[in-house]
Amino acid sequence: MIQTDILIIGAGPVGLFTVFEAGLMQLRCHIIDSITQAGGQLKEIYPKKPIYDIPGFPSVLAGDLIDNLEKQIEPFQPSYTLGERAETVEKLTDNTFVVTTNEGTLHKAPVVIIAGGLGSFEARKPKLDSITFFEKKGVEFMIKDPNLYLNKKIIISGGGDSALDWALYFSEKSNEKIHLVHRSDSFRAHKDSVNNIYKLQTEGKVEIHTFSEVSLLKGKERLEEIEITTKEGVKILLPTEYWFPLFGLSPKLGPLTHWGLEIKKNAIVVDNTLDYQTNIPGIFAVGDVNTYPGKLKLILCGFHEATMAVQTAYKIIYPEKKHTLKYTTVQGINGF
Ligand SMILES: Cc1cc2nc3c(=O)[nH]c(=O)nc-3n(C[C@H](O)[C@H](O)[C@H](O)COP(=O)(O)OP(=O)(O)OC[C@H]3O[C@@H](n4cnc5c(N)ncnc54)[C@H](O)[C@@H]3O)c2cc1C
Repeated sequence: MIQTDILIIGAGPVGLFTVFEAGLMQLRCHIIDSITQAGGQLKEIYPKKPIYDIPGFPSVLAGDLIDNLEKQIEPFQPSYTLGERAETVEKLTDNTFVVTTNEGTLHKAPVVIIAGGLGSFEARKPKLDSITFFEKKGVEFMIKDPNLYLNKKIIISGGGDSALDWALYFSEKSNEKIHLVHRSDSFRAHKDSVNNIYKLQTEGKVEIHTFSEVSLLKGKERLEEIEITTKEGVKILLPTEYWFPLFGLSPKLGPLTHWGLEIKKNAIVVDNTLDYQTNIPGIFAVGDVNTYPGKLKLILCGFHEATMAVQTAYKIIYPEKKHTLKYTTVQGINGF
């Protein structure tokens, strides 16, 4: 059981900044995110786009903003459960919450702050008959620990950054040739990655199958072979240990809708007159995931909401103590 002061659901910009504001009050945070990297929409959807409305930054790349937030919260040593989705919540008789992920990891905290954005990012799964059977038996939609797959027979599907980045990674680290399968011959990934992958193909480290799709998965207990079908209908069988279909991620509010929270238009209703608390005392919602009259889905609004939420969180965690707001210019950063 992971125990903390504030359990944050979502490692997007707002979840990360919550750690900072909580840290200033000497509150410890643990963050859960369904994807394996911090950054939410900024890292997942638009890491290379410049943002122009972050105060003090005339322009900042979305990916750089996340890197800076991670640096800013370093002194407060947040811990993470990444690659797992917060699934259920239970309120105990002592008013603390136990949040369980889809992998069964248990987290306990007196305060939960949901910074879930548009919802947990879930892998887009191709429609293939036996795909559920082979999931975690050779079919992986996310790569949590790449070391597990070094020197294995790997097939990667997809034409975006994720597919090409991993194809490059494994072809450089692994002894085995990597197969990259894509349904067209135009890749959406960075130009550099596309150039590099074709270079590795000439070196024999990667085999690129364009205008092709995986059509059949074969194996007894786990994945052993994959059938690829080309646009012309030619079928190729490839022995394989792992198939990574990397077709992007789409957000789903999903399990949070079953937590007994008041939901309006796919967002969690909060009290914006005070602290962004939900209808369940002790559970707050900040950032894109919440709604209230006049709500704006902007990063800076989420930062403000998080700042307000942790003030009440402190009172819940330390009802007997009084906290006086001090400027960071006065108190500095007192990390853990
Ligand atoms: C193309 C584009 C451009 C944008 N440009 C701007 C801009 O210029 N300025 C601006 O202010 N805003 C901009 N935005 C909006 C901005 O990205 C959002 O306001 C911001 O990402 C909200 O941050 P967040 O932390 O609330 O949520 P998110 O960034 O969505 O992060 C939420 C995280 O929570 C996780 N999560 C959700 N549910 C669960 C669960 N049950 N279990 C585990 N994890 C969960 C998700 O996986 C995700 O990583 C833009 C958005 C897009 C798409």
